[in-house]
Amino acid sequence: AKQAGRNRSCRFQAAMNERVARRMSLESRLRGALGRGEFALAYQPKQDIATGRLTGFEALLRWSGAEGPVPPDVFVPILEDSGLILPVGAWVIDTVCMQIRAWGDAGMPRVPVAINLSARQFQQENLVDVILAAADGAGISPAALEFELTESMLMTDPAAAEAAMHRLKAAGIGLSIDDFGTGYSSLSYLKRFPLDALKIDRAFVRDLPGDSEDLAITRAVIALAHSLNLRTIAEGVEDETQLASLRENGCDEIQGYLYGRPMAAADCLKRFGPLMEM
Ligand code: C2E
Ligand code: CA
Ligand code: CA
Ligand code: CA
Repeated sequence: AKQAGRNRSCRFQAAMNERVARRMSLESRLRGALGRGEFALAYQPKQDIATGRLTGFEALLRWSGAEGPVPPDVFVPILEDSGLILPVGAWVIDTVCMQIRAWGDAGMPRVPVAINLSARQFQQENLVDVILAAADGAGISPAALEFELTESMLMTDPAAAEAAMHRLKAAGIGLSIDDFGTGYSSLSYLKRFPLDALKIDRAFVRDLPGDSEDLAITRAVIALAHSLNLRTIAEGVEDETQLASLRENGCDEIQGYLYGRPMAAADCLKRFGPLMEM
């Protein structure tokens, strides 16, 4: 029995070492990724349920290095833990601003583009200046930007979060809470922050309308949001049944494979931009 235990713990140790080694190797490859131009952005459209119109895009980071693409759920946490999210996050902000400019020049409808922020970025003293300088550098209005924050980011240092959010709001920038309902929600705090929208996490949308608990949560979030004058955006909407349920329950916008997958900027222009030939 002792021997078996030792084998098990050896195997455990080996698996741990492998995980640590893999992570270290990813981190060292990520360190040079920006310089090698290995990051790209995909843009996922959002749609107004009532009118069917495009309301905006969300920028999603992609990394493809020498060994092929790595999913964000794997590399974003490494960027965050290593601090690399600060330069990479600044690259995202710059790239989105330049994309908005290029789309505008190409006659794309002027809809805001949302950027995901990490806690580390949000704690950065000069974040607001970085954002405003990026918009200015690209010659766009900061009001063309939105930011998606998470509940935990607001709760770590609510006073600092509130101050940063008021500066962003003053520049006309939209703010929403991402993955709403999955973090540690302190509902009483919601009214304190200058927010525009709540994004209902995909986990609650997936089994709509069959799952009565998810349906109850979705309805409650929509009612809460509307009572605070916030819009609701359902994430991960993949089929018409989910959409029908969300429409019936008064959700404002959807995002998901049903309306559009994350796609390259050029494909967004093809789908939503003006006809190139008349
Ligand atoms: P998120 O912000 O919640 O982004 C939504 C995720 O859901 C995206 O995954 C998107 O591709 C996926 N998705 C959208 N519609 C559907 C659908 O209908 N069905 C399913 N199954 N999935 C859908 P992605 O691109 O893999 O990104 C994962 C996470 O990585 C994001 O979750 C976000 O937390 C993080 N992330 C992505 N880009 C950035 C970034 O630029 N900065 C930071 N800090 N985090 C980012
Ligand atoms: Ca998001
Ligand atoms: Ca989300
Ligand atoms: Ca998520």
